[in-house]
Amino acid sequence: MTKEPKYIFVTGGVSSSLGKGIIAASLAKLLQAQGYRTTIQKLDPYINVDPGTLNPYEHGECYVTDDGAETDLDLGHYERFLNVPTSQANNVTTGRIYQSVIDKERRGEFLGKTVQVIPHITDEIKHRIQILGNSGDYDIIITEIGGTVGDIESLPYIEAVRQLQWDLGEHNALVIHLTLIPYLSAAGELKTKPTQHSVKTLMESGVHADILVCRTEHELSDSLKAKLARFCNVKKEAVIQSIDASTIYDVPNLMLEEGLDKVVLKELNLKSDTPDLKRWNEFLKRHKNPKSTVTIGLIGKYVELQDSYKSILEAFIHAGAENEVSVNVEPIHSEYLTPENIAFKLQHLDGVLVAPGFGERGIEGKIEAVKFVRENNIPFLGICLGMQMAVIEYARNVLKLENANSIEMDEETEHPVINLMESQKDVINKGGTMRLGSWDCKIETNSIAYKVYGASNIEERHRHRFEFNNAYKSQMENVGMKATGFNPETELVEIVEIPSHPWFVGVQYHPEYKSTVANPHPLFVEFVSAALKHKKK
Ligand code: GLN
Repeated sequence: MTKEPKYIFVTGGVSSSLGKGIIAASLAKLLQAQGYRTTIQKLDPYINVDPGTLNPYEHGECYVTDDGAETDLDLGHYERFLNVPTSQANNVTTGRIYQSVIDKERRGEFLGKTVQVIPHITDEIKHRIQILGNSGDYDIIITEIGGTVGDIESLPYIEAVRQLQWDLGEHNALVIHLTLIPYLSAAGELKTKPTQHSVKTLMESGVHADILVCRTEHELSDSLKAKLARFCNVKKEAVIQSIDASTIYDVPNLMLEEGLDKVVLKELNLKSDTPDLKRWNEFLKRHKNPKSTVTIGLIGKYVELQDSYKSILEAFIHAGAENEVSVNVEPIHSEYLTPENIAFKLQHLDGVLVAPGFGERGIEGKIEAVKFVRENNIPFLGICLGMQMAVIEYARNVLKLENANSIEMDEETEHPVINLMESQKDVINKGGTMRLGSWDCKIETNSIAYKVYGASNIEERHRHRFEFNNAYKSQMENVGMKATGFNPETELVEIVEIPSHPWFVGVQYHPEYKSTVANPHPLFVEFVSAALKHKKK
C-alpha cells in the first residue's frame, strides 16, 4: 500500500489505434502482480455523455459495468486483465464533463463568475481523475487519455494533466507517451521523426513525457533507442519497445521483458519486485497449446467489425483456454441467412451463438438460425437479443403463434412474446435509460444454468429495454421451453432453456462482460464444452 495514491497518465501520439488500452491494462497487471492496488480510467474527448448512444460501427462494443455505466470497450480490457470490476468513475467523456459544469452553472454554484474552459472545465477533469484516488481503494491510478496528442478536443485534458503534475508534486505522477515507430520498407528503416514531433507537440502544452512506449513491427536497436532518448528528453531505459504480438495477452510479459514496470516504479519512488504472473502464464500456456478445435458460429449484424463483439470474442478465448481447445469463431452475417442457405451455412458448426443487438435489421436471419440449431441439436447460446430471438422462434414454430414478435420490431404484433416493461413505457430519452448493470437472478435447480453456475443466486449485467412477456410463460413451458432463471423482485425472466435439446440456453443478460482471464465465465466454459461434445459425436 502506498501512503498517497500515485497517478500515471497515458497519452497517444502519431496515430490512433495504437492500443493505449492494452498497454495501460498490461502495465496495470504488472503493478497489480507486485501487490499494488491498481485501477485504470479512460477519458474520452467526444461530446456524447457516454458511448451508449453510439453505433457499434462508430465505436465498437459498448461495455457495461456492475453499476450500470455504458462505457468504452477499453474498460472490458481493464477488467479482463485485472479481474477487478470498474465503475462509472472509470470512464469520463467531454460530454459528461460539460454536462456537470453546465448543471453547476444553472444551480448558481459559480457565484456569478464567468465559466471558462480554464479553470472550470479543467477543474472538473482534475476532480474526475482524482475520484478513484480519493476513494482510498487504490495505490495507483492509470488514466488513459483518448485521442491523439495535437487533437483540438484533447487539449483541456492535456492541460489538466499539466496542472495535476504540479499539484501532485514530484514522484507522484508521470506521463507515458505511446507512439508509433513506422517502418519504411523502401528505405528498410524504422523512423523516429513522427515520435520526435509528437513529443514536441506534447511539450508545447507544457507536458513532458517521462516514458516512451514505442509500437513497432520490427525490433528497435539499442542505437535507435538511444536516439529517441536523446531527442525526446527521456532516459534510455525509459524508451520501451512494444512490438506487435500474436495475442494481446502476451503484452504484459513483453512489457515485463522491456522493464516498463521497473521504470514506472522507480519514477514513482515505489519498491519494485518480481511480479507474480503464475496464474496468468498458466492461462497463456493453455491458450497456446490447445488439444483440439471447435468452430462456433457468431451470428450478428456487425460481424465484419472485430470490435463490435469484443467481450464475446475474448470470453471465447478464456473459455477455450479453460477447456484446452482453440475456439474458432466463424462470423456469420444474419442479414444474409435464409431458409434456403441456412443448412449450408450452419451445419458444420459445433455451436452457435446468436448475438445481442438492436433494431429490425437481420433479425429474421437470427430466427432462422435458432430454428436450425434447435431442430439439429447443435449447442446454442443466445445473448440478450439472441435470447429474445430464441423465444420468438419457439413461439412461432412450436407454439404455432405465427406472428409472434418483439414489440421492438413490431409494435402492433398480435403476440408480443417479447414486451416492453411497464417502467419503460414512458421513457423518451435514449441515453442511459435501459435496464442497465447488475441485477440478481434466481436459478431453478433442475436446469443447465444451475449446473453451469453451481449456485441458485447469481448477479449478471444487463443492457436492454425489452423482456420476456410472462403472459406467455405457461404456454411456452407447456410446449417445452422453460424459464429457468428470473429476477426475484420483478419476476422478469433471465434465462430460458429447452430441456429436450442437448444444450440450448438463452440469457437476457450479458455474461460476456464478466469473463476475465482469472475467472472465465462458466456459461462460455460450459458452452464450449458442449460444442466439444457435439463435435466428438
Ligand atoms: N434490443 C433488445 C432490447 O433492447 C436487446 C438488447 C441487447 O441485445 N443488448 O431489449
